[in-house]
Amino acid sequence: MERTERDFYARDKDDQEAFLTQTWCNECMAVDLGMKEPTEYEQNGVVYIEGKCVKCDSQVTTEIADDDTDGEWEDDAE
Ligand SMILES: [Zn+2]
Repeated sequence: MERTERDFYARDKDDQEAFLTQTWCNECMAVDLGMKEPTEYEQNGVVYIEGKCVKCDSQVTTEIADDDTDGEWEDDAE
């Protein structure tokens, strides 16, 4: 499936901080451990932020409900 890269760092600082702290790690089986090295992408109309668990380095993915996106993201398809 098509995967569209997005710029995580274009988000508000508050948003960034929220997404980096509000995580679920499948390895640790724990919430809010935090993630590092975040990347953001969109697939099938769903936005994901993917990074590494701060505690165990496993891949952590946060799925974002896209209800309140205002469509300003669609100008950089290359
Ligand atoms: Zn973990």
